[in-house]
Amino acid sequence: MLTTISGFDRIGEENAFAVLARATELGARGRDIINLGIGQPDFATPPHIVEAAVKALRDGHHGYTPATGIAPLREAVAADLLKRAGAEVSPENVIIVPGGKVTMFAAIAMFGEPGAEILYPDPGFPIYRSMIEFTGATPVPVPIREENAFAFSADELLGLITAKTRLVIVNSPANPCGGVTPRSEMDTLVAGLQRHPHVAILSDEIYGQMTYDGEEHVSLLTFPEIRDRLILLDGWSKTYAMTGWRLGYSVWPDALYDKVRKLAVNAWSCVNAPAQYAGLAALTGPQDAVGEMVAEFDARRKLVVDGLNAIPDVSCIMPKGAFYAFPNIAATGWKAKALASALLEEVGVALIGGPDFGTLGEGYVRVSYANSRENIARALERMEDFLAMET
Ligand code: PLP
Repeated sequence: MLTTISGFDRIGEENAFAVLARATELGARGRDIINLGIGQPDFATPPHIVEAAVKALRDGHHGYTPATGIAPLREAVAADLLKRAGAEVSPENVIIVPGGKVTMFAAIAMFGEPGAEILYPDPGFPIYRSMIEFTGATPVPVPIREENAFAFSADELLGLITAKTRLVIVNSPANPCGGVTPRSEMDTLVAGLQRHPHVAILSDEIYGQMTYDGEEHVSLLTFPEIRDRLILLDGWSKTYAMTGWRLGYSVWPDALYDKVRKLAVNAWSCVNAPAQYAGLAALTGPQDAVGEMVAEFDARRKLVVDGLNAIPDVSCIMPKGAFYAFPNIAATGWKAKALASALLEEVGVALIGGPDFGTLGEGYVRVSYANSRENIARALERMEDFLAMET
């Protein structure tokens, strides 16, 4: 019998991948499946970005790059953060990584160990908890509540910090609930963190450019008080429809940068070179495609929320960011995961049960609106008919 270190017995999953596999399998068997489960834009990467990768290959960019990424790309990230968020960042604090998840892994691995506590949002992206458990640290959920428009409460979060807390993970705009944490809460959080100088912060801002109705995205990078212990997670996956390119970046404080650089040298050497040139074209080229994609998500968001609220026993608040709705289905009498599974198997609608995002996810499902308006309308109709039949 082979034995592995105990962390591997605790490692979790992202059920969205299992749902995608099942939906694909059913589709291959000829079923008409509408996928509202997937957490990736249904748009193609804009052509000028694809062309930049092709050109990079033709120009001979076939070898290793610096482990932290090519200098022009790190400079472009710094310039973009200044332009978008008004945050002064040195390219020397930026590292290019193979996707946002890698930043998550690096930050959690840096602070997680038995005896340590790490705060994370619940419901939240499932990999936070999985990685915390992998390290042997204790996961401490920060409740994300519908009553609070799915934003976290800074006071509640601060109240969970102990002498053992090493890292706090925050995510706004948020997956899976679509909440956007307002400036007032961010102010309270930053002020409160002054009392806990031993705590590092991982701010997952991967949906930072996806807010609606003029809702402001407040980047934690703009608070100088915490810059010496803030890790920013961001990247290209969602903003530029580049999930399959495996390209992301993070900003690290001086004290941690060399540690993550060494992790890169040990674990992935560098991100593939043509993808980095594509990322450069994305940041420095026209941004129209981003605006168009967000406008389309906005229209679908209203369609989804109106449609869900028209279904008896289902209620859904208007999400302020990302591309997910998180309807409350408790009044239908269904358990969330059973409903998600029945909808896929019986009527071909894929979505994700709330408990896949944490213990507070029971009573909810996540509906991704990364699908066409037509398909969204068809899926809502199927859901309504199914629930009318079953209840
Ligand atoms: N953070 C959040 C909140 C996400 O929802 C996702 C992807 O779904 C990621 C990070 C990971 O992004 P990437 O595909 O760049 O690894």
